Amino acid sequence: MEPCTLVLFGASGDLTKRMIMPAIFRLARRGLLPSEFRLIGYARSEMTDDEFRARMQKAVMRDATAGDEAAWTEFAARLSYIPAEYDGDDLQGYAELARRFERLDCGAGARRLFYLATPPALFAPIMKHLGEAKLAGLAYQPDDGGWARFIIEKPFGHDLASARSLNTEIARVFDEDDIYRIDHFLGKEIVQNLFALRFANGIFEPVWNRNYIDHIQITASETLGMEGRGGYYETAGAMRDMVQNHLLQLCALVAIEPPAEWNPRAVRDEKVKALRAVRKINPGEVGRDAVRGQYGEGVIAGERVPAYREEQKVAADSQVETYAALRLHVDNVRWAGVPFYLRSGKRLAKRATEIVVEFKPAPHTPWSARGGPDERARPNLLVVNVSPEEGIVIRVEAKQPGQEMRLQSINLDYCRCDEHGAIESPSAYEHLLLDSLRGDPTFFARADEVEAAWEIVEPIIEKWGAEKPSDFTSYAAGSYGPAAADELLARDGRYWYEATDQQDAKSATRTPDSSRAKSADG
Ligand code: NDP
Repeated sequence: MEPCTLVLFGASGDLTKRMIMPAIFRLARRGLLPSEFRLIGYARSEMTDDEFRARMQKAVMRDATAGDEAAWTEFAARLSYIPAEYDGDDLQGYAELARRFERLDCGAGARRLFYLATPPALFAPIMKHLGEAKLAGLAYQPDDGGWARFIIEKPFGHDLASARSLNTEIARVFDEDDIYRIDHFLGKEIVQNLFALRFANGIFEPVWNRNYIDHIQITASETLGMEGRGGYYETAGAMRDMVQNHLLQLCALVAIEPPAEWNPRAVRDEKVKALRAVRKINPGEVGRDAVRGQYGEGVIAGERVPAYREEQKVAADSQVETYAALRLHVDNVRWAGVPFYLRSGKRLAKRATEIVVEFKPAPHTPWSARGGPDERARPNLLVVNVSPEEGIVIRVEAKQPGQEMRLQSINLDYCRCDEHGAIESPSAYEHLLLDSLRGDPTFFARADEVEAAWEIVEPIIEKWGAEKPSDFTSYAAGSYGPAAADELLARDGRYWYEATDQQDAKSATRTPDSSRAKSADG
């Protein structure tokens, strides 16, 4: 691969430590980085190159699979650090960056990857200064086939207007092809697998529509609370933090039409079409189609945990939702009448991200009509486990062993970890970093895609912002979320599937009553 320099803004931060640096190191160990690769950390914290290397080593070595000291020493020689301001009057850091590019005498100066892992308010100023310094952007014209690309972290915008404005600012100085808006869900093997599942199997595509599918559920539930990120979360909430990006990305991948060809443009065009087909929820319908909640204190894994309002850097009367559920409709021929239910929350009973496709039940079982046992078939499910396990489960009805014609549900189960071994599987960040180095934006969000997703959640966010909820401690930590989220589905004669984690899936799906009875510590 061509030589490259990666400049990591926000290099003293949490994401760098936990995700980005370990992913880069793993790429290095797997021999997937260019042989002439350099990384320049950039942040305000005072550190020497050696202090930065020591800090990164500590972060990387927390991972048991990280490797030995020798591998680190070889990698660490590629790291350096610039302590400087991102914005304001003192822009010496950008001048120093220009000097470093010149000094890194490896031909790498022409290929630059800028990773913006700072608070979002700094994205635009950093890009502007890099453009003005001609270190990137339309004014940066390397003569040897070089490039300058940006990976931009989430959240991309705080609402539709700010996302549009950020896109407009970016478009003034940069080519859209050089912008890689990261959504790490898109870097997950199992999420990318949705394309293979849907479009490489003769058995799925014919039934992937309103004629055979009853509804879709997309869930991202976490047991964790704020983990010190309460300050950020107070400006976001579940709808902005999870639904606008991750869940709507999953929704788009379930809903899209087959791309005519496999290239970034064709794939992302289809995603945009799917998102634009989602019916906008009118302000008057928000109460009917959307549910919000905030966790109170409770018990998770046997330990008492505080309410959201007692978390660090959270207001004692915070109105921010830690749980959001939505009922969406995709208004096109494929999906007319098929609801998509989305939900995400913190401090819930289980950590699970999954997509459940419920098929319409078999219309008739022959033996029950002939006076045999009243065995009604339960609907088939296709479950895509996104985390913590990655896998696919198909629930089908089968005969119970024995004399009688009785039915039981069985799972055809594929766990990716079993198959390929967790250690060799690239993490989502590895996948996406490598894609950006190779210049493949297929699994990154395009400007119009991000705006289409904001358009979906905007009316709800506005309505929730304008109306204070009457009682906001609406679910206990360790529970399955607010009762109103159950009612959202119950009104349609449906219920949330809670039981598709590995253990419960083996023993079939629970009914709503039994699922509610269970709590994280129970
Ligand atoms: P941090 O809050 O840790 O900030 C990163 C760095 O930015 C800090 O080390 C600090 O470096 C600098 N910084 C922080 N606040 C300010 C400020 N007010 N003004 C100027 N500089 C500041 O962020 P994270 O590392 O947690 O996240 C980075 C980005 O990634 C954010 O956009 C976040 O939304 C996104 N993200 C984070 C995730 C996570 O789990 N942490 C998950 C998904 C996305 P210094 O003071 O040295 O300059």
